[in-house]
Amino acid sequence: MLLCQTAAEMHDAYRALRNAEHTLGLVPTMGALHAGHLSLISIARTQNDAVVASIFVNPIQFGPGEDYEAYPRDFDADYSKLESAGVHALFAPSVAEMLPRGNTTFVDTGELGTRLDGASRPGHFRGVATIVARLLHIVQPDRAYFGQKDAAQIAVLRRMVRDLNFPAHLIVCPIVRESDGLALSSRNRYLAPDERRSALILSRALNAVQQLVEQGETRGEALRASLLNTFATDPLVRVDYATVVDPDTLLPLDDISHGALIAVAAWIGTTRLIDNLLLPTRA
Ligand code: AMP
Repeated sequence: MLLCQTAAEMHDAYRALRNAEHTLGLVPTMGALHAGHLSLISIARTQNDAVVASIFVNPIQFGPGEDYEAYPRDFDADYSKLESAGVHALFAPSVAEMLPRGNTTFVDTGELGTRLDGASRPGHFRGVATIVARLLHIVQPDRAYFGQKDAAQIAVLRRMVRDLNFPAHLIVCPIVRESDGLALSSRNRYLAPDERRSALILSRALNAVQQLVEQGETRGEALRASLLNTFATDPLVRVDYATVVDPDTLLPLDDISHGALIAVAAWIGTTRLIDNLLLPTRA
């Protein structure tokens, strides 16, 4: 596996890979890799001749008082996982490389970027979109892989790729979960044992909604009420959002017959976790 730490090195690697191989897939991550990240890599490997992974803990997607400093970093373990997963090149730039002094250009994600996580984390999606735009320019992949786990991020990036005519195709990969239902997240390692038990409430709330939908419920309000009822059962949990929205606009839906995103975010102690369920159009 090639290790590239500057945009110039990555560009050379891109040229070499492009010459030797035909198509290139990019899997952007913040490291602290788990099976969710590795599933993106495995899907990217099936669809491309070469795969580039990136590791960058992006300071401009964290707000003041968030966990940027504490965010888990484990470069050596990540490097081995990526090498074993058959990644061709790892792009692991420094902060100065990605955000050079004097940088004043950012991607404005508009109102879309102020919804869901963008509401509780102001500026988060501007930071995400700016760095993903830079990664797309540096790596120039044919396809870029993102997890459905970050559903609002998908909506924002899809719009960015469309609005700014990025040639890359954005590929959305399914959520990987622990056997008990908890969605894998680098932040799960913050959870104390009692919090780990409480964290299951996110997937339980989504399962309860899924059951209501299977019984024929289509009213957004009824599904929202179900989410809140589930969350109300655990005093350790503080809901950030629990809602039923259009997956593209992230605006609330009254009716889910034409598909919907059921999205939840909650604080378990000092750890904020997210999860979601994408409902297809009803036949
Ligand atoms: P992160 O390192 O948290 O920025 O995540 C990097 C990529 O992995 C993002 O596209 C995430 O949506 C994706 N991802 C994170 N957790 C999961 C998961 N449990 N299942 C699938 N994809 C995930």
